[in-house]
Amino acid sequence: MTVPNLTLHDGTSIPQLGFGVFQVPPEETAATVRTAFEVGYRHIDTAQMYQNEEGVGTAIKDSGLDRGDLYITTKLNNGFHRPDDARRSLEKSLSRLGLDQVDLFLIHWPLPTQYDGDFVSTWETLAALQAEGRTRSIGVSNFQPDHLDEIVSKTGVVPVVNQVEVHPFFANEAVRAANARHGVLTEAWSPIAQGKVHDDDVMGEIAALVGRSPAQVALRWHLQRGDIVFPKSMHRERMQQNFELFDFELSHEQMASVSALDLGEAGRMGPNPDEFDWIPA
Ligand code: NDP
Repeated sequence: MTVPNLTLHDGTSIPQLGFGVFQVPPEETAATVRTAFEVGYRHIDTAQMYQNEEGVGTAIKDSGLDRGDLYITTKLNNGFHRPDDARRSLEKSLSRLGLDQVDLFLIHWPLPTQYDGDFVSTWETLAALQAEGRTRSIGVSNFQPDHLDEIVSKTGVVPVVNQVEVHPFFANEAVRAANARHGVLTEAWSPIAQGKVHDDDVMGEIAALVGRSPAQVALRWHLQRGDIVFPKSMHRERMQQNFELFDFELSHEQMASVSALDLGEAGRMGPNPDEFDWIPA
């Protein structure tokens, strides 16, 4: 299977399919990511908050893979939005990952009710870190359209991606449209709704028609919409299944049937970024 690369507006490219490590326990991360590499994944999505960057680093080191063949994303933790803290935290991430540079560094959450509502200075710090070569690209996560408008209008620096919750039950169209307006690619987190696509009758019917699993149907739906995905699994056979997405297609009608499952705000599974204010102790 060859994973397509998408071109980001800064001229770099990103594999459209990767592997996410949210909720992969730190002590199991090295082995899990090693298995993901064996299956064929080359794009890993981690975060300071997940506390498993060290395991990702171990897997990278043990893999013997060329650095240039890997795409590694990490994200700024919520407690480190002040410029000096952001800087120090990326240095620590690089050390845990065993890298000189990550491919992509994201502001994990905008936290509009924290830091006196200032995420612009944090964004300026990420731009400085990119200029210094500590990250190849910079982006954001969980930014609502007004957050995106604010950083772009105040800094002129456009994120390459906005990583937000998107799955068949929460299509998040307003944010996807804002991303598109700015030339920002959407990364869809919880792309299979944390496994819940398997409980849905329509997903089951389409899966039976195309001879695939509901997870594969959901992932294929994202890919055909042009979004970037990185499903998480602790099981090799599911990792394998989630990687086998490039030898079938959903028809126009099947795409529309999946899109019709959108419940709007009621389908959101994670926190609302306008309200989320959690800072780890
Ligand atoms: P996913 O939608 O990827 O679902 C993962 C769950 O589905 C796990 O419980 C997994 O179980 C199960 N699963 C995986 N594959 C299959 C399959 N083929 N069949 C049946 N069940 C399956 O949820 P995540 O929340 O993990 O999202 C993916 C990634 O997105 C994260 O790992 C992280 O990188 C990113 N993310 C980012 C956030 C942000 O704020 N920026 C927030 C949340 C996620 P098992 O492991 O037991 O196989």
